[in-house]
Amino acid sequence: MKLTVVGCSGSVSGPESASSCYLLQAEDRGTITSVVLDLGSGAFGQLLRFVDPGTLDGVLLSHLHADHVVDTAALEVHLKYAPTGPYAPMRVFGPEGTSERLAQIAGDDGAESPFRVEAWRPGERVRLGSLTIEPFPVLHPVPAFALRITGPGERAGTTRVLTFTGDTDLCEGVSRAADGADLLLAEAAFEEGRDHVRGIHLTGRRAGELASGSGARRLVLTHIPPWTNPATVRAEACTTFSGPVDLAAPGACWSL
Ligand SMILES: [Zn+2]
Repeated sequence: MKLTVVGCSGSVSGPESASSCYLLQAEDRGTITSVVLDLGSGAFGQLLRFVDPGTLDGVLLSHLHADHVVDTAALEVHLKYAPTGPYAPMRVFGPEGTSERLAQIAGDDGAESPFRVEAWRPGERVRLGSLTIEPFPVLHPVPAFALRITGPGERAGTTRVLTFTGDTDLCEGVSRAADGADLLLAEAAFEEGRDHVRGIHLTGRRAGELASGSGARRLVLTHIPPWTNPATVRAEACTTFSGPVDLAAPGACWSL
């Protein structure tokens, strides 16, 4: 599996990055499966650097906050009207209410929606090409899911696990999703000593605790807002997790 950061700015888009969006690709016997995790503000244009978005096998939405979903409207226009089409209907997975949310964002131009939306069901795995995705409900002010994704490793015959926390504070769901993950892509929007409210986001320290407690092999910190210094958040994480800690950046890749 290969993870590419398309956008990693937290809460709002930033001067150097679009909002949340990650391209995950896996090859199995010559067939490539490509999905995106979230499609936040500014991410559609950046996604064009890496793939024709119309050829994705699916869009996996962790939750329906604007900074994670608004560029579904751009994808909808691409699927309907780009001369590089026609494209097959696009499978989209998200919490209950995803169809209504996407329609609200895009508006109604009278044409049929190109999306085929399915709701995450806790405990129900979804198979997309060579990837298996298991959603875990997590702790955020709106229904939100961490995604545990299992797929073929880069080395033939191996299987790897990538866990994306979505937006969450520490909770049982995100711990279970991250259990033994080869790569834990964890949000770290909050800063210790500054952001005291609980039940919304991780800090760098809490992301490190999650990685340690779940036995993750590598921690990649993301969803850091423009008003936060990423080095501060990374330093926090290094106090609670002794494994490798990376910062997400646009275009950065990890092969599993
Ligand atoms: Zn959120």
